[in-house]
Amino acid sequence: MAVIVQKFGGTSVGGIDRIRHAATRVKQAVDRGDQVAVVVSAMGGETNRLVDLVRTMAPVHDAREYDAVVSSGEQVTAGLMAIALQQLGIDARSWTGWQIPVHTDDVYGAARIQRIETDVLKERLANGQVAVVTGFQGIGEVGRVTTLGRGGSDLSAVALAAALGAERCDIFTDVEGVFTCDPRIVAKASKLDKITYEEMLEMASQGAKVLHTRSVATAMNHHVRLQVLSTFTDTPGTLVVDEDEIVEQQVVSGIAYSRDDAKITIIGLPDRPGVAASLFGPLADANINVDMIVQNISEDGDRTDLTFTVAKADLDRTLDLLEKDNDKLGAERFSPDANVVKVSVIGVGMRSHAGVARTMFDALAGRGINIQLISTSEIKISVLISEDYLELALRALHTAYGLDVD
Ligand code: ASP
Ligand code: MG
Repeated sequence: MAVIVQKFGGTSVGGIDRIRHAATRVKQAVDRGDQVAVVVSAMGGETNRLVDLVRTMAPVHDAREYDAVVSSGEQVTAGLMAIALQQLGIDARSWTGWQIPVHTDDVYGAARIQRIETDVLKERLANGQVAVVTGFQGIGEVGRVTTLGRGGSDLSAVALAAALGAERCDIFTDVEGVFTCDPRIVAKASKLDKITYEEMLEMASQGAKVLHTRSVATAMNHHVRLQVLSTFTDTPGTLVVDEDEIVEQQVVSGIAYSRDDAKITIIGLPDRPGVAASLFGPLADANINVDMIVQNISEDGDRTDLTFTVAKADLDRTLDLLEKDNDKLGAERFSPDANVVKVSVIGVGMRSHAGVARTMFDALAGRGINIQLISTSEIKISVLISEDYLELALRALHTAYGLDVD
């Protein structure tokens, strides 16, 4: 008998009827003869509501109590799911993270899972009981409830699947799988049957919202077969697997975008050793993540311009820090721009194909779209462009890489 983990996201458990429906998906697996562990998110919108309550009580607050409050949403859905399953005649029991226990470190609000105890769970599963486990949380070293960071119930599911040695981890959501591009923008996008871990990791970290980035990394490290599929339609989803499982590999598998970045150009930065270190050091200390960086060669060896991106949410904080440090940096001025998007083409096939970047640049040039920044990895090319051209760029690239379907 196969052990599988089924995870249901916020929209899939967004109310009584939806939980009832999700329970029928669990029943399908039970009826197939699988041993099933279910991981649930809070009802859609509930975690935001809880976060707001905490922030309203005190904008600056004790992180332990934040976790105590925001972890509660999942406890509600786990209990309701267990009841819904019982109503379908299935033996089911709910578990919170600390009951399992899911051991984490003590970084409240962004805890890392260290170990999951599975002895009791395995015994229950083997006896035919469905275990419904709260996502998003665990218990820290000093015995308090921790949460894993927003969207963290994907991670709970993957980590549980790894710990149980599950045959597959099904992530049930409100879309039918992973698409070649956002189908709300590119009507000719199609669902991928399979995608590699590496591609999925890039897709998620470059803005595709369908899976939590850390959950993909964990699945890759532990070789957990992942499936992303819809709770609401009865069609197979997208399998996230090792590269050797994919026979016909496209050069570009998907196109992702992110509106979450902002660009800062530093004009007239003294061109001397150590200047990048003194620029980015304080940003790192302030936990500000810098993504793309481009530095120009100075013509006169004296001053240069440097452009980089940070999360839009960090833009003001970054500018404040730069202004504060500028007596040391000595830049002429800082020029921020939040009206940008990052568009990334992703595919492991890039490793063995030349001309992938050229296709991208030609397609964008053909539409008169100016590229502001470029960054690449082995399996990804990202460009930063004006937000006004997002839709045009996505459609042009989707066509240029032969991804369109009618
Ligand atoms: N409920 C949590 C959140 O909204 C965790 C999750 O749904 O993945 O962030
Ligand atoms: Mg989610």
